Amino acid sequence: MSYNIIHLYPDLLNLYGDRGNIEVMKKRCQWRGIDVTVTYVNSNDTLNLENADFILIGGGSDREQAIVCSKLLENKTIIKNYIEDNGVLLAVCGGYQLLGESYILGDQTIPGLGLFDFKTIQGKGRCIGNVVIDSLFGFQIVGFENHGGRTLLTNQTPLGKVVSGYGNDGKGEYEGLSYKNVVATYIHGPLLPKNPQLADHLILKGLQRKDASAVLKPLDDSMEAKAASIMIERSMHEKKENPYIQS
Ligand code: GLN
Repeated sequence: MSYNIIHLYPDLLNLYGDRGNIEVMKKRCQWRGIDVTVTYVNSNDTLNLENADFILIGGGSDREQAIVCSKLLENKTIIKNYIEDNGVLLAVCGGYQLLGESYILGDQTIPGLGLFDFKTIQGKGRCIGNVVIDSLFGFQIVGFENHGGRTLLTNQTPLGKVVSGYGNDGKGEYEGLSYKNVVATYIHGPLLPKNPQLADHLILKGLQRKDASAVLKPLDDSMEAKAASIMIERSMHEKKENPYIQS
């Protein structure tokens, strides 16, 4: 069986090692004997999701998000159809914000794909630091956040509850969004090297779209688990700077 990975707009959306997420998806498939194809779709390329098993939309600066939003909007229908057809999508930070209605920065409004009815508003100060959440998948997710936007979900399901960190709106309550096989999050890190359980969840969902009986052979993740437990422990003792906790 093969696994087709698409990295969407790496020329513009690729902050804080987001590309590492692709490497993890690729390696964890290859270690199990699954053939992998990675297609990098830059902002001037044509997007075709017919054979896609996994899409990554990474983070970006405000400037890059303003450039890329029109490219995303041109492809709104195929991305929407892919999501509704249980396609697996990981959207990180700027990519997450662009799934919503808009990202409002003072006088400037960057339109999002409008696939979800939420807005992001630039707050005072940035939410920067290590983050730990209790995810709705039943395991903890660790990583690093750095965002100026505060994402205000309306009726969507968050990815998890913040244990330590700022999360969606900077108030340390909820983090990310989950819908069908979409995982959207502020967590960089990069995310997947630090959270192999999440990588496997995404790989399996992609494989099961093609073959409902697909299973994954376990891998030895003891090193990653140890690193995560150290990060969790460290995060608990970190002091968050209050001036940054503003909506
Ligand atoms: N530019 C956005 C913000 O600051 C997203 C940043 C990012 O992708 N890390 O909120």
